[in-house]
Amino acid sequence: MSQSDWIACVALDLPTRQTFDYRIDPDAGGPCVGPGMRVRVPFGRRSHIGVVLELAARSAVPAAKLKPIGALIDARAVLDSQLLSLLRWAAQYYHHPIGEVLAAALPKQARLGAPAQRLTEHWHLSADGAAALAADEPRRAPKQRELLAFLSSGHGASADELLNWRPNWRDHARPLAARGWIASSEQPSALGPAVAPAHIVTSVAPVLSAEQSAAVAAVTASLGGFASFVLHGLTGSGKTEVYLQSVAAVLARGERALVLVPEIGLTPQLVGRFAARFAEPLAVLHSGLTDGQRLNAWRLCLSGEARIVLGTRSAVLAPAAQLGLIIVDEEHDSSFKQQEGGFRYSARDLALVRAQSLSIPVLLGSATPSLETLHNIAAGRYRRLDLPRRADQAPPPRLSYVDLRQETLTAGLASTAIQAIERHLSSEGQVLVYINRRGYAPTLLCTACGWIAPCSDCDARLTVHQAACKLRCHHCGAERPLYEQCPTCGFAVKPVGQGTERIAETLARIFPHAPQARLDRDVVRHQAELTAVVERVSSGSARILVGTQMVTKGHDFPNVTLVVVLNADQGLFSADFRAAERLAQTIVQVAGRAGRAMRPGEVLIQTAYPEHPLLQSLLRDGYDGFARAALLEREQAQWPPYARLVALRASGTDAEAATRFLSAARRGAPAMPGVKLLGPAPAAMAKRAGRWHAQLLIECAQRGPLHRFLDQWLPEIAELPDGRQVRWSVDVDPLEIL
Ligand code: ADP
Ligand code: ZN
Ligand code: ZN
Repeated sequence: MSQSDWIACVALDLPTRQTFDYRIDPDAGGPCVGPGMRVRVPFGRRSHIGVVLELAARSAVPAAKLKPIGALIDARAVLDSQLLSLLRWAAQYYHHPIGEVLAAALPKQARLGAPAQRLTEHWHLSADGAAALAADEPRRAPKQRELLAFLSSGHGASADELLNWRPNWRDHARPLAARGWIASSEQPSALGPAVAPAHIVTSVAPVLSAEQSAAVAAVTASLGGFASFVLHGLTGSGKTEVYLQSVAAVLARGERALVLVPEIGLTPQLVGRFAARFAEPLAVLHSGLTDGQRLNAWRLCLSGEARIVLGTRSAVLAPAAQLGLIIVDEEHDSSFKQQEGGFRYSARDLALVRAQSLSIPVLLGSATPSLETLHNIAAGRYRRLDLPRRADQAPPPRLSYVDLRQETLTAGLASTAIQAIERHLSSEGQVLVYINRRGYAPTLLCTACGWIAPCSDCDARLTVHQAACKLRCHHCGAERPLYEQCPTCGFAVKPVGQGTERIAETLARIFPHAPQARLDRDVVRHQAELTAVVERVSSGSARILVGTQMVTKGHDFPNVTLVVVLNADQGLFSADFRAAERLAQTIVQVAGRAGRAMRPGEVLIQTAYPEHPLLQSLLRDGYDGFARAALLEREQAQWPPYARLVALRASGTDAEAATRFLSAARRGAPAMPGVKLLGPAPAAMAKRAGRWHAQLLIECAQRGPLHRFLDQWLPEIAELPDGRQVRWSVDVDPLEIL
């Protein structure tokens, strides 16, 4: 049987679990078609680009009805067999249509058919052109004649070479092309210049501490086989240095390294350190790239030019061949989990699966490992590598709680905190005030009638943004002018509560001589603005920094001696079982900004519940102690990591649709021993952006029965009539419980 008798099984980027069979037409790619290649295929009245999953000898579709593949786009697979099997595994595990999963692994332009190789515009002489040149034509245009001569040597010239020849070469080329004397074609370029230029090695590897050496030795000893490590160390303990030296060992073996980071756009420091250490081409993949840049970075991975691939979540699906090591920095960070849209995968978890299937080690780093990861260490699945000290030998900061019930407050700041700020400022220290809320105040209230400015599309209050003179909804983005009077009774309204903007204003009033910087999404939207703020703080020209979560993301503020955490209590009483974990991680991460460079740091946490057991364990035994207590609670409640969870979420434009659909889904659920259904329940914020949300949780201690259950159940859900009124999605291992 020749290959033209084979069938290509093609996955299309469509919300369907089905794949589609096509005949392999000898005229369109013929015998070259193989798994992992993109093809253009007829579909309905249009044509679509899909990826060949596999070749088969026969199809369930009658031969007469099978259409042929329209065109083969790739000469070799853009998803190699290993990556393809990872993606097929992910489609099964996350119960998501394979076509959309494959699409997530391709940059947009590649999904639209852009060639896998970088192409260069190449010009050559035609036979007529050669004859013209021999006859000294065109006589009246010496520059054009020169161009013909230039192209007659060798195999013509690339557009780059022509540009070097004469910047205005196109003016001379145009008339020649019009006469058919020269022609251009697109040719795959050989090793072109990389996106990131080959870097000059500027940073020299320092001598490692004993703990760092042990960590690097453990990782390098396991190269060539699967192993999972957790590098646990505070900010500044030298984790990045361990990554760098482990990667050096990988490169020395002729292999490549994949490094995943939470939000590259906001943490350029890590990219800079890799670029400065290695004279090897680096591909950087993150959400801030243009489509063209993203395509280029993907091509660098695919061609093997990039020796180090550094990227955010989706980089775990990058087509990097000959990988020797995968690193996941800040593995606890929630941005590794895709939480919106279709394919909701965890890049951290896929990194482990990928490493396992490649038989290479994976290194997870964090100052505050997730409880899942700590549980895996305890179960012996991951090996823990500790960096207990800071590289600069600074002692860990002193943590204490400020009991809000016993304090006088000045616009949200306790007097103990204000005194501490004063003390640190007067002894040349720098102060970081953390509050997890941007804007001026979370509420606008009428004190006469009790009216509160609501978002008309969400079950939420509008946040006051004083400087912008706006009310904004932080959930749907709605914006209103800032009222001065109550729209119901006409009385004056006032902002209640605190956000970064108001805290900054209060601090400016109390400490008029201390220059300030603010770090939140309202004041810092671009890389350049971020760099400017970080620079003002690092240089010491700002003495007080007020910021949100953004301050915890990888920036170095070596002179901060005092950290004040303002609203810790939100995390203690949330409906989401992960809230306490996130709170502890934030406290430890923010605290990690204090006291570098031999200056002991102090951390004050304002709370109305200083005796809360989780806060107490954090204070007494640090993050590890907190984690032990929190894991115990999880075990008692049978939450992850002691159970596996799947969320079926739905939303509709009327208040009942989502719950109606989920109830119907629940009624149709097959019985499966060990699988428990919880709900449906409206989301904590039921109405969001004009839609009502609800969820149904599916819980099971074991993975096997849970996935068998979903395999049976999901196809039935897809047929439910109530499903037409809602948008619904499946989230396996959800991070946020609504
Ligand atoms: P982390 O990634 O854990 O925050 P880094 O690797 O960034 O830690 O180290 C913090 C600082 O200490 C950096 O400036 C780094 O260059 C420096 N450093 C790390 N390891 C060493 C070492 N062995 N000797 C000297 N300086 C080091
Ligand atoms: Zn009123
Ligand atoms: Zn809203």
